[in-house]
Amino acid sequence: MHDRYDPDYLFVNGQCRAGWSLVVDPASALIVAAGPREDLQQAYPEATVHAWRGRLIMPGTINAHAHAFQHLARGQGVDRPFLQWRDDTLYRLAPHLDPDTLYQGSQWAFAEMLQAGITTVAEFFYVHGSTLDNDRAVIQAARDVGIRLIFARTFYDWEGAPAAYQETPELAVQRTQTLAAELSQDPTVNLHVAPHSLHGASDLMIQTAYALAQDLGVPCHIHVAEESFEVREVQARTGHTPVAHLAALGVLSPRTLAVHLVAITPEDIAILQDHGARWIYCPASNGFLGDGIPPLADLLAHGIPPALGTDGGCSNNRASIYDEMRTLALLHKGLHQDATVVTHRQVLEFGTKQGAEHLDIPAGDLQPGRLADFVGIDINHPSLIPWTAETLPANMVYAMQPEAIREVVVGGRQVVHEGVLTTVDQQRLGTQVQALVQHWFQ
Ligand SMILES: [Zn+2]
Repeated sequence: MHDRYDPDYLFVNGQCRAGWSLVVDPASALIVAAGPREDLQQAYPEATVHAWRGRLIMPGTINAHAHAFQHLARGQGVDRPFLQWRDDTLYRLAPHLDPDTLYQGSQWAFAEMLQAGITTVAEFFYVHGSTLDNDRAVIQAARDVGIRLIFARTFYDWEGAPAAYQETPELAVQRTQTLAAELSQDPTVNLHVAPHSLHGASDLMIQTAYALAQDLGVPCHIHVAEESFEVREVQARTGHTPVAHLAALGVLSPRTLAVHLVAITPEDIAILQDHGARWIYCPASNGFLGDGIPPLADLLAHGIPPALGTDGGCSNNRASIYDEMRTLALLHKGLHQDATVVTHRQVLEFGTKQGAEHLDIPAGDLQPGRLADFVGIDINHPSLIPWTAETLPANMVYAMQPEAIREVVVGGRQVVHEGVLTTVDQQRLGTQVQALVQHWFQ
């Protein structure tokens, strides 16, 4: 049996195709066909039909960098310098985090992401505590809400951080291997490795993590040059910029997903290009924290396109990749005083196809063989009108409100219907989260 989705429009190869349908094989959770409705009616006559009237089907967006639990600190520590923000929010949040609170906080964040059209999230998780129970709670939250998860398990050994973050290299390897074995058969969760940063992990910790990523054959995520304090620190210690130091450590390659790259030099860009390293960009978070603006135009000119991330709920404070697309485009057009510096077509790709490529999953567009991860957008939502098939993509980037995203399917499973989560009671979850954090920050 197959499922056939009949929207008004299907977004394929950058175009909104009228009267096209999508056929999904629920057993493999893959797209098996995308094409004109009449052809697919003939080819798959037995398919269960989902008539999505008034909908445009888009690939789900890919959130390539997030810290879900930070949703519990939304509204805290705002309008402060980076290090003060870190101490006032993240470090005050740490003592309250256990499997139960992490489960609730992560569910809350993942639910909001799904409603915003995010079908995959890379959760960069570093509050491990003394067992694997915290990690498992976050993973279970993703499964229960129904979002596809890249669990980027962090390696962190800086002694100035809360105890719950810290592990020895040996312990981090052992635990990550245990988790990798547990997740090896999970169709909606992939494990990646993520040494935190040059300020959160020692050189040995970073090299150990990278070697494990090689062993496991998975990407290696790391925060790089998010803030100028990291550049000053690394330069004082090594005489190199963070990017040059990572190259010297032997951990820069196409396997490396460098998150942020805000405070970098033209020489750094050449090094990144030479090593084939990839980039994850979090425009709203970099702005919120006053980190700065990465040299997007130069990076693009050197063949380094970004995937997009929302980052945490207390450094953004939204959870939408469409929002990141819009923020990125407006920011760089304004910065360069040039409206052509980046286009809506490019940012749509950053948030879908590029994200999937960087995270090494077959998603991000609606082709046969890709994962059945897609969303149904209400083309008659007030924020999109007026539109034509040609202007819809631009309207989605520049005009659309999240409420226009009505249906969300992840791995062939419908997890949002008519804007409402089918997997968890979001209202009840909100009441729980509101009660949970009431006295945490007083
Ligand atoms: Zn981050």
